[in-house]
Amino acid sequence: MSLFDKFQPLVQDRQSLLGQGVDPFGAPIEEIYSPTEARINGRRTILAGTNNYLGLTFDKECLDAAHAALDELGTGTTGSRMANGSFSGHRALEREIAAFYECDKAIVFTTGYQANLAVISGLANNEDTIVIDADSHASIYDGCRLSGADIVRFRHNNPDDLDKRLKRLGERAANTLVIIEGIYSMLGDKARIREFIEVKNAHQALLLVDEAHSLGVLGERGRGLVEEAGVIHETDFIVGTFSKSLASTGGYCVSNHPQLDLIRYASRPYIFTASPCPSVIASTRAALKRVENGADLRARLWRHARRLYRHLRDAGYELGPEPCPVIAALLDTREQALALWRGLHEHGVYVNLIFPPATPDGKSLVRISVCAAHTDEQIDKICEAFSVLA
Ligand code: PMP
Repeated sequence: MSLFDKFQPLVQDRQSLLGQGVDPFGAPIEEIYSPTEARINGRRTILAGTNNYLGLTFDKECLDAAHAALDELGTGTTGSRMANGSFSGHRALEREIAAFYECDKAIVFTTGYQANLAVISGLANNEDTIVIDADSHASIYDGCRLSGADIVRFRHNNPDDLDKRLKRLGERAANTLVIIEGIYSMLGDKARIREFIEVKNAHQALLLVDEAHSLGVLGERGRGLVEEAGVIHETDFIVGTFSKSLASTGGYCVSNHPQLDLIRYASRPYIFTASPCPSVIASTRAALKRVENGADLRARLWRHARRLYRHLRDAGYELGPEPCPVIAALLDTREQALALWRGLHEHGVYVNLIFPPATPDGKSLVRISVCAAHTDEQIDKICEAFSVLA
């Protein structure tokens, strides 16, 4: 069998998708008009699948900061911080993220994916056990694999099941890393974080929360589920990404454990990759300030999210368990999901199409991510398109 034979099922799969027109997994974005509109396949389209929750991709202060950094510092860092050193922006952003959470330490990584890889594989090794939610993001699974630790999964968002799994570990539970997410990216449900904290405290385990989808979205100052639930200082490690509410690329981890800093010297995904570009760091710093003072954006975001959720539910769609800026319509088959995705595209609405195994319970998903910059008219159009296709 050649190296390439294993691609055969993929080739057939892709042919069946492409035979019917535009590729849902590689939509050509031909021109960007605004945070919420682009030309896709020749059609003016509302962007409703971008994770651009606060709509900051064209924020003037973020753009100005990025332009200035490009001119002053150049286009790239051309190497890792370990080898090439840290620009003042990297260090400033780390201080600002730590201050944002009122925590002692922060580390910035080149992507959110690498933040999970770096922190998980930096903390645990092949003598450890990591206990994760079964519906965890791929970056959490990959971080666990890279660590070499034993992986135990508990039922999605189920603190009782976590308790059971930790009990089974006996004395080892006290040295176990437990990982959950703030808002889960597939169905838009929030972690039962207070209960998880009680369980992890009872077993003296350590808790890491990935706030990729909840930063900027939850909490008075946008610090995510940990802020909304009042548990920032009961959480051992908070991980997040710059690629959603902060409208750039990169990732971070904050903690009050002094050992966080040592991850810099022990973690391959931090050491062996180039550090973020100066312009990325600069726009992220400006976006972080806007997030902190973003109650107006969050109010708009949630108003749109509640309206869309209610409308889709009333139109008969099966949805995730609660209103959230991530709204997923669950379809029984891939064909149904593809037909809905294609219909929305024809109505000028771009959303995400997600197939198993990336989805829970073997369902296929058509997922909206709501943006604070959507206008009421755009939300009307998205509602109309879903109604016509219901
Ligand atoms: N964690 C979660 C829960 C995510 O959804 C994502 C991205 N979708 C990441 C981490 C990785 O972030 P990034 O795309 O910024 O690398």
